[in-house]
Amino acid sequence: MKNIGHGGKEIVERILPPIESKKRIRELKRIAVTDRVARECIDLAYGFFTPLQGFMGKGDVDSVCEKMTIMNGTLWPIPIVFDITNKEIKEKGIKRTDTILLTYYGHALAILEIEEIFNYHKLNLEQAVLGTTDLEHPGVKMYNTLKDTFISGKVTLVNEIKFNPPFDKFWYTPKQLRKISTEKGWERIVAHQTRNVPHTGHEWLMKGAWFSANGDLPVEKIKTGILVSCIIGPKRLGDYIDEAILLGHQKLHDAKYFRDDIHMVSFVLWDMRYAGPKEALLHAIIRSNLGCTHHMFGRDHAGVGSYYDPYDAHRIFDQIPKDSLNIKPVRILEWWYCPICGEVTYSGLCGHDKKRQGFSGTMIRSMIQDKVKPTKLIMRPEVFDMVLESADKYGFGSPFCTEEYLNKRQAVFEIPKLQNRKIIA
Ligand SMILES: [Zn+2]
Repeated sequence: MKNIGHGGKEIVERILPPIESKKRIRELKRIAVTDRVARECIDLAYGFFTPLQGFMGKGDVDSVCEKMTIMNGTLWPIPIVFDITNKEIKEKGIKRTDTILLTYYGHALAILEIEEIFNYHKLNLEQAVLGTTDLEHPGVKMYNTLKDTFISGKVTLVNEIKFNPPFDKFWYTPKQLRKISTEKGWERIVAHQTRNVPHTGHEWLMKGAWFSANGDLPVEKIKTGILVSCIIGPKRLGDYIDEAILLGHQKLHDAKYFRDDIHMVSFVLWDMRYAGPKEALLHAIIRSNLGCTHHMFGRDHAGVGSYYDPYDAHRIFDQIPKDSLNIKPVRILEWWYCPICGEVTYSGLCGHDKKRQGFSGTMIRSMIQDKVKPTKLIMRPEVFDMVLESADKYGFGSPFCTEEYLNKRQAVFEIPKLQNRKIIA
């Protein structure tokens, strides 16, 4: 697979060679970054946000808000921004054309070559991206934590990122993923985004999307993979712990509910904005940079409450210019378990309307909480066992985020001290 990503541009990769890092970062002004900014620096530098090479300037932010494209016309739905207080800019004497060092928990993370320092209008940003300024919307809450000033500029990592177990087994950069898919011989790849432990409904949907992606092919030409792409970002109390999500999906693979050669599990670092249709487009862009050709979108993808129609995230793919995106949506309707059919079925298929049993996330969660194994029609026993095992190993006894987990969990990633890096000649 060639390394051409979104917007027809080569996949971005901006990591300084070790010997150069030590030279370049000496004497730079330092700014400590938040978790979100650290995650987005990593996304930018490894090319998840290709063609972006850094945080957006005012022209791009305005263009994204008004036209859903960056200034060169490439489709882009959500601004990617670096926020800082005006106070910190003044205190550190930061000015345009400076190069600054971004640090994360005291370690050198990346350099930012400043192109612009500018103010923005927060309410306009929220209205444009989220379609609301309602304080109850989690995206609005997140935007309200942004500091008052934005800095734009290219980002380059000064150090490789070290992912801690079990995340290390599931971490692939866009270039690595493209290489692996090529080795597997995949010509089409269906992305499944998730923040959930898989139940049989999710499994059925992935299988359905795989059929759908292959529908036009004779048997000998079917070379289609399924990429489970978990979203790893900030956690809230009661969410499934990240480790259970990744290991639960991997268990479907290890227990052969999916063949070895058609399925793999990975993750993307991203702080959900819950921007519904616009976020669906961003997810599609990220997965196209990973080399995916198809992306599943369920009911109310990236939505929250009743801010968006459940199928807005499906319709938006018909509202963007043709050829603005190099990945196809696989749009998924509602599905449920039917006891008459004896299987998972799908909106518009089974006629036993009165018998349908929705997959209640709440019910499955309470069964897991009580350690009551659900019927295998709802959750594979191997997955259930793995969720409990992950709870013991990583969740302080719970598969759901508790205060203890949020305070004491092992970090997803860390940045080794620069001087410990091996210098490769
Ligand atoms: Zn039925």
